Amino acid sequence: MPHSPSPHPSGFDAVIVGAGLAGLTMAVALKQAHAGHLKVALVDARLGQAFKPSGRAYALAAGVCQMLDALDIWPDLAGHVQPITKMVITDSRLNEPVRPIFLTFDTPDTTAGVTEGSYATMVEQDALWQALERKARAVGVMMLSAEVVDHQSHPHQVAVTLDDGTLLQAKILIACDGAQSPIRKRAGIAMIARDYDQSGIVTTVRHERPHDGVAEEHFLPSGPFATLPLTGNRSSIVWTERTGRVKTYLSMSNEELVEEIEQRFGLKRGRLTMLDRPKAFPLRIGMARRFIGPRLALVGDAAHLIHPIAGQGLNLGLRDVAALAELISDAVGLGLDCGSATVLEDYEQARRFDTVLMAGLTDALNRLFSNDITPLRLLRNLGLGLVDRMPRLKSRLIREASAVNQQMPKLLRGEPLDGKV
Ligand SMILES: Cc1cc2nc3c(=O)[nH]c(=O)nc-3n(C[C@H](O)[C@H](O)[C@H](O)COP(=O)(O)OP(=O)(O)OC[C@H]3O[C@@H](n4cnc5c(N)ncnc54)[C@H](O)[C@@H]3O)c2cc1C
Repeated sequence: MPHSPSPHPSGFDAVIVGAGLAGLTMAVALKQAHAGHLKVALVDARLGQAFKPSGRAYALAAGVCQMLDALDIWPDLAGHVQPITKMVITDSRLNEPVRPIFLTFDTPDTTAGVTEGSYATMVEQDALWQALERKARAVGVMMLSAEVVDHQSHPHQVAVTLDDGTLLQAKILIACDGAQSPIRKRAGIAMIARDYDQSGIVTTVRHERPHDGVAEEHFLPSGPFATLPLTGNRSSIVWTERTGRVKTYLSMSNEELVEEIEQRFGLKRGRLTMLDRPKAFPLRIGMARRFIGPRLALVGDAAHLIHPIAGQGLNLGLRDVAALAELISDAVGLGLDCGSATVLEDYEQARRFDTVLMAGLTDALNRLFSNDITPLRLLRNLGLGLVDRMPRLKSRLIREASAVNQQMPKLLRGEPLDGKV
């Protein structure tokens, strides 16, 4: 006999699917608006499972850090954040004995507050995820440990079926269910995507000497090799390689891998020790044809995938969160339907340009730098050298990377949404 879903007793304003960093932040933002009056559910099977450390870290732009502060998450991250004081960019071949510096970005002193004037801050994923999860529970998000298996949009609500048979009803369904987004697929929204034939190998190393907050990105023919400062004498490594070679690196012993990393990183910070086994993530660029459907919004990797060359993927997703949370909060404040076509179309319009721009920019950077074609190498080194001697252009680039300006949604400016608890 077919299993008939049992309706959840209460209807929700928003059902969010996926408790990754985008989904959790969305849940906290909505629940904090309007003095906690919105009914918000967050669904993900991982919510009922034991916490699995990832060992990963993200470079978060200043605007996103301000948003985490406005949501009262930042104080919980003490000891897990490291401001980037300087970014150094080099371009060389793997076997070259020195990696000449072509471009540097120093910390501007024009912004301040939680980011200590830095345009980006390294934040450890596990601490961030746990802080968001604690906050979501504390502010009263309904956390449901389940998988979503179906959803049906109707004129006035959306019905969401969970794998335990529960039926949730909401005004808006927010899909934060990641790159493979089952909700996006079920809604028939195509994603235009292309594999890079590159994978990002991620690990953490300890070095003998301090990094002084300096992040480095070495453009090598197989892809960028980034060292990103963490607290203490530690750095997160994001090492892009051709996918065909990744298996060989992952099967190496820690000692062999350290040698490979030292060949790219150098010994300027002394000997390296690997602190966790590396993991590899195949890299893709992808853009959903629409970010919305009837009573449905796609957020984060469910809507877009970009190359990590500029460390912007999660930043984009959290900018989606800031835009959509404000539109929903404003609609509720005016007594309007928060899942209406108007709210959804405003969301798509607000996010489309930024996303396409960032996807195009990261794609172009990767094409320009991940190769060993001599004329291109000369051209890009000339270009980097020129930018390095143009302080005005550099400060503009820093401002853009910080994602702090007056046109940004309130949360990214560090302002709470209306009626925050
Ligand atoms: C090598 C590498 C380095 C990166 N570095 C950076 C960086 O420095 N800075 C940066 O900003 N970004 C970076 N990124 C990008 C960043 O990792 C992603 O953009 C971000 O993690 C996506 O978060 P998300 O919440 O959208 O999705 P996810 O983290 O994928 O979360 C999706 C969630 O949905 C849940 N889910 C899926 N299906 C269902 C279902 N049917 N029912 C219920 N739940 C479901 C899953 O369990 C999961 O918890 C990097 C990416 C890579 C690959």
